[in-house]
Amino acid sequence: MSEPRDEPGMPLFAGIQTFMRLPYDPEVGRADVVVLGLPFDVSTVYRPGARFGPAGVRAASGRLAGASYNPAQRIDVFEHLTAVDGGDAPVVPGNVERSLACMQAAVARVHEAGALPLCLGGDHAVTLAELRAAAQRHGQLGLVLFDAHHDFWDDLYGERHGHGSWLRRAFDEGLIDARRSTLLGLRGSPGDVDLDDMRELGFAVFPFDDLMALGTGAAASAVERAGGKAFLSFDIDFVDPAFAPGTGVAEVGGPTSAQALALLRACRGREIVGADVVEVLPDLDWAEITGALAATVAYEIVTLVACARAATVEGGAP
Ligand code: MN
Ligand code: MN
Repeated sequence: MSEPRDEPGMPLFAGIQTFMRLPYDPEVGRADVVVLGLPFDVSTVYRPGARFGPAGVRAASGRLAGASYNPAQRIDVFEHLTAVDGGDAPVVPGNVERSLACMQAAVARVHEAGALPLCLGGDHAVTLAELRAAAQRHGQLGLVLFDAHHDFWDDLYGERHGHGSWLRRAFDEGLIDARRSTLLGLRGSPGDVDLDDMRELGFAVFPFDDLMALGTGAAASAVERAGGKAFLSFDIDFVDPAFAPGTGVAEVGGPTSAQALALLRACRGREIVGADVVEVLPDLDWAEITGALAATVAYEIVTLVACARAATVEGGAP
């Protein structure tokens, strides 16, 4: 029951808009991967609207219904795992901390069921809720972060919880191990955060120019460095706004969608225990450019999970 639908007589644009038109299962626990929407954008410091991200990504994901074989990774994804759409977590409009608690509880339910949560944001603050739930289940995590920004501010406008400071909070709370964590794609001004200070704490930091010089090897090393319990977070603003215009804090001069997908696919090989695609802002998207990319990114993450499972079954390297 947990494969994308590709039925004769039911075209891709029809039906209820679950992710990849997977079965909707709010009970979770009946699949290996549960897609969960986190419709929260209260902590954004620039353009709001990512609360509609889950709906936008789901709408754009219809064209992926039935895409079990992934030619880029040469694997039949749904031969190795099952997946459902678990719907959205509840949030509290206007309140960051209560929303984080609601989202953490929803993500924790997925972990408790033994499934892997793949979350659709939401602004990037949602990742703190996900990491709290994941660390509770799996202990300290190694982070692979695709983002144009470091998100390591101590506070923004005096607020310690937000989409620019979730990584600092995750570090403070011991949810992630900096020595197993890598930031990929930074550009623009880092503000008052010194990237060398981050490196001294243990983070591997690859600004965009370094990432392009090193290519997919940098992404592969990031997931290797994360070790056995990796959390993968993909802020859609990692990609150049020409290819992902529907986002809150766009930074020009980033990778094309093709380059971004190649880097993501290089993260093959390690167990991922949680992942998300965040900062999709459908109101600023057009022609579903950003939504389709984010849906594909999420599908490629499911593919990475399938690759890791296939390698475990075969007992060899993926
Ligand atoms: Mn971010
Ligand atoms: Mn960002």
